[in-house]
Amino acid sequence: MNIYSGPVFDMARTQFHSIADHLDIPADERDRLLYPKRAIAVSCPVHRDDGRLAVYQGFRVQHHLTLGPTKGGTRFAPSVDIGEVAALAVWMSWKCALAGLPYGGAKGGVTVDPYSLSLRELEGLSRRYMQEMIPFVGPHTDVMAPDMGTNEQVMAWFMDTYSMYQGQTVTEIVTGKPVATGGTLGRREATGRGVAYLVERAMDRLGLPMTGATAIVQGFGNVGSVTAAALAARGAKVLGVADHTACYFDPKGLDVPALLRHAAVAGKLAGFSNELAFDPAALLEQPCDILVPAAMERVIDGATAQRLQCRVLAEGANGPTTPDADAVLQLRPEIFVIPDILCNAGGVIVSYFEWIQDLQQFFWDEAEVNDRLYRALQRAFVQVLDRAAREKVSNRTAAMAIGVAKVRDAKRVRGLFP
Ligand code: NAD
Repeated sequence: MNIYSGPVFDMARTQFHSIADHLDIPADERDRLLYPKRAIAVSCPVHRDDGRLAVYQGFRVQHHLTLGPTKGGTRFAPSVDIGEVAALAVWMSWKCALAGLPYGGAKGGVTVDPYSLSLRELEGLSRRYMQEMIPFVGPHTDVMAPDMGTNEQVMAWFMDTYSMYQGQTVTEIVTGKPVATGGTLGRREATGRGVAYLVERAMDRLGLPMTGATAIVQGFGNVGSVTAAALAARGAKVLGVADHTACYFDPKGLDVPALLRHAAVAGKLAGFSNELAFDPAALLEQPCDILVPAAMERVIDGATAQRLQCRVLAEGANGPTTPDADAVLQLRPEIFVIPDILCNAGGVIVSYFEWIQDLQQFFWDEAEVNDRLYRALQRAFVQVLDRAAREKVSNRTAAMAIGVAKVRDAKRVRGLFP
């Protein structure tokens, strides 16, 4: 089982065993729950613009098929390896189960710096990756979506490549597509909207007003930028933002609409301002009410957790907090943690809405999408908080316990196949 190595999978494994201990899951049941059903590795050759041939390594990990097809994003990033992809697939399983979606978790990725590719090269790589995956995916076996480094355009290329092979348009093979090709209204914004909605619920619980609350957001891609905009729209003051190119901080509050306009044109934060430039390593530790890591995993370790000065830690990214940091946060009850599998679940919830709309070819308006999204998040939020209070555990333990127990129960009644 040791093909799944590396710090991110180690983190998923450590978390799982602590939940399994909490749920008293016998030792012989654990490997079946933790280790993926399938992992696929492929080579993706691409002609570069300068005439050279480059080969990129791609992966897809399908964690379990016990509750329905697998579902999960595709990440294009230099860090991608099979361990990272497997960890993200495992987290997707607990997230889907917690949200009550009929899916197992999956994840895919290509080891590549997507910012180093031209548009033509990105299209070539996206189409080749999907082509290699065709024998292993399908609308009722494994449905892809965007993640770091991929977007609606990449999903449109995935869908088109799969459809050409089938000889018919199969929109339901991916979610997070442009609305023009069977995507749903509200999917692009769903994750960030969900993060802001849950932050508001958490602030309510703490008796803190959103108006005038201060926020810091790390990551200014799909999740981070929409979260910053949605927090600002709810009256919060966004003090700091960062992406991989720049970090800005203003104690008086940043102009979020201006940042969004800049990022839309430049494709990055760099170039927005010289005066507001700030040390990215210190950003997460600045005093604020709401802290949203929305870039990558393992950015909050034990030492950083000691220095956090926020009231709500809203995990927009997957796996931003290490188990060491979690141990510190257990001793800091003044910080309300909205754990990743709850906090960023808005993305997969609206992906599920997109999939069912595609299967029925019956499309909803955006108000219906958002209303159903908020109701699903509210249900999961209340379940997590109730369980945490009842069992005197952290919100993360409660959230993961709900997800893991649901998959365990389904596996127990079904048998060994899925
Ligand atoms: P994205 O590619 O759109 O954006 C990623 C952002 O992170 C970019 O702004 C990038 O510059 C920034 N970043 C990368 N390295 C950084 C660094 N060292 N410091 C600061 N910023 C850095 O990706 P996304 O879809 O917004 O995903 C972000 C996170 O949210 C990931 O953990 C992803 O798994 C998770 N997530 C995404 C969705 C979704 O619907 N897109 C859903 C659930 C979870």
